[in-house]
Amino acid sequence: MKHATIEKAAGADAAPDTQEPLHVLIVDDDDVDREKLSRLLHRCPWRIEVKEAASRREALDLIRTPETRFDVVFLDFGLTDGDGRDLLPPIREELDPDCPIIAVTGHGSAQIAADSIKLGMTEFLTKRMLSAEKVAASIEEGMAWRQDRQALRQAEAELTHRSLHDPLTDLPNRTLFFDRLTQACARARRSGDAFAVLMVDLDRFKEINDSLGHAAGDVVLQTIGRRLRSHLREVDTVARLGGDEFAILLENIATVDAAMAMGDKISQLIQQPVLHDNRVLYVGASLGIALCPQLGYTPTALLSAADNAMYEAKAGIEKTCLARSQQSDDTEALDSKSLLEELAQAIADHAITWHWQPKIDLASATVTGFEALVRWQPYDSGNISPEQLIRIVEQSPLIEPFTVLCLDTVLGQFASVQDAWPGTSVSINVSARMLERPSFVENVLGAIEIHKIAPERVILELTETALIAHPAQARRVIERLRRHCLRLSIDDFGAGFTSFGYLREFTVDEIKIDRSFISRCTQSAFDQSLITCLVVLCDSLGITLVAEGIEDDEVRALLIHLGCPSGQGYGISRPLAFDALQGWMHKWNSTAHPVVEVLPVPPRQAAR
Ligand code: C2E
Ligand code: CA
Ligand code: CA
Repeated sequence: MKHATIEKAAGADAAPDTQEPLHVLIVDDDDVDREKLSRLLHRCPWRIEVKEAASRREALDLIRTPETRFDVVFLDFGLTDGDGRDLLPPIREELDPDCPIIAVTGHGSAQIAADSIKLGMTEFLTKRMLSAEKVAASIEEGMAWRQDRQALRQAEAELTHRSLHDPLTDLPNRTLFFDRLTQACARARRSGDAFAVLMVDLDRFKEINDSLGHAAGDVVLQTIGRRLRSHLREVDTVARLGGDEFAILLENIATVDAAMAMGDKISQLIQQPVLHDNRVLYVGASLGIALCPQLGYTPTALLSAADNAMYEAKAGIEKTCLARSQQSDDTEALDSKSLLEELAQAIADHAITWHWQPKIDLASATVTGFEALVRWQPYDSGNISPEQLIRIVEQSPLIEPFTVLCLDTVLGQFASVQDAWPGTSVSINVSARMLERPSFVENVLGAIEIHKIAPERVILELTETALIAHPAQARRVIERLRRHCLRLSIDDFGAGFTSFGYLREFTVDEIKIDRSFISRCTQSAFDQSLITCLVVLCDSLGITLVAEGIEDDEVRALLIHLGCPSGQGYGISRPLAFDALQGWMHKWNSTAHPVVEVLPVPPRQAAR
């Protein structure tokens, strides 16, 4: 490693920063080439500090040295200890996501140049044609690129902030709250960190709003929002869900007593007077509290338990109510060792099955594919839903054999029909934990090869949570799978933390709108607008939009009217045992499926 400071006299124009030297890293295993580039840099019109790395290893050491920063990296591809391009992820992830990286290679071709740009390099230089002017121009390009990226990032951050916060109080909104809650549930499962969810509804707020006007109401909401925020810890989340409803996530609350004490504190904070326009305004609050893990680990269940308790508080004398435990949660099932043993045996015996739900092109009613959905019933542990089964599998070492069995069974069955039903695909659900397994990609590729299936006929469905949990890792896995031509789908779109950002980040082929937006779409103007937006977005991005949960012909007709290309749901077919699929296909293909006459469907209520 060699360090040299190159200083240039005053008079430097267009200097990216005249105060600070420009920190440049050259990665090249050829001493002569490094020297030459260093010399050319010396002739650039800026103060430049160069560090040199003669190998990948040295470059990594430099990148990982604490406090290091580089404004530009010049990168050779062929290094003695590997491909220079492998340095792109560490540079972007560990050093600076916006660092301009300029490729410098011995042999230039249009293909290499195009590949470099595709890989995220900002510029491409060939060693034979290097000159001080070219080097300076590439740095300038790089700096401009960095500025654009930063501006974009900032705009994006603002947009994201807006989409995740309530404009009136600037508190997190429902979406962000739900995301934090989902993460808290995951942490609680993993390491037993207990927490409490509080639903807060203001009392007498409507009276203030009605008698003194919205401005007064707004001041009350803002003041209470600020008060709650400033009296709770940084780790806690205070969100406004809408109207006069707040939700609070309190970390590390393990006991009923601690939760009730916090409830009292919050009530008192809310009851303190609010000053507005020389008036003193008073509101009260009804609180519902749900504890995790006592009430399980499911975000929606916790929220609805807290919500029910809050309604109980509103109706009763006690202004703070605690949600009671429900028997239906799967924690009990999880604790049962015998269930895990039975499940392990079922996997070993291949006694787990997958049902197939057809997916159609809505307008023509042509079958375009099938989604495989797991089915298993233990002998004596009661009913287990697929979601519960997946949660149990995910938390146990059975995840590996389960994934292998899933791929083998589903792809094996698809292999037996793929020739008979050309133009169809098979969709497999992949959970976050499965994606995390190092062997996942090999398992998928292995199964595809064994069963001789064209990879483009396989769609992997990932939920947004799986993408958020480990974005960098998810990206690596997804990129590998895409390189092998598999198709990817985002499942349950809109149900959890929805960000359009990863539509750009992860190249996906399909989006499945969560069925909660479909099932009531004939009655909700909001859901219809959302579907329309997604139709336009997907259309322009070349992504197939799939509606899930189509339960009747009216919904199918409306979706066609809104431009949604494909869908699945009980109204088309329930998930079927594989043996029943052939019969269903025959019947479906020999029946007409006219679109019912319901257009246009007026929103029955503009419910959100
Ligand atoms: P999902 O991926 O969103 O699958 C769609 C679910 O909606 C299925 O529930 C399906 O039976 C149900 N469904 C389909 N059409 C309709 C409809 O018109 N109305 C209603 N109300 N429901 C409909 P299911 O089979 O209970 O599966 C639940 C979830 O379990 C799946 O949700 C998926 O997340 C997970 N899952 C199922 N099989 C697997 C698997 O093999 N691997 C993984 N990782 N997850 C799986
Ligand atoms: Ca799915
Ligand atoms: Ca889904």
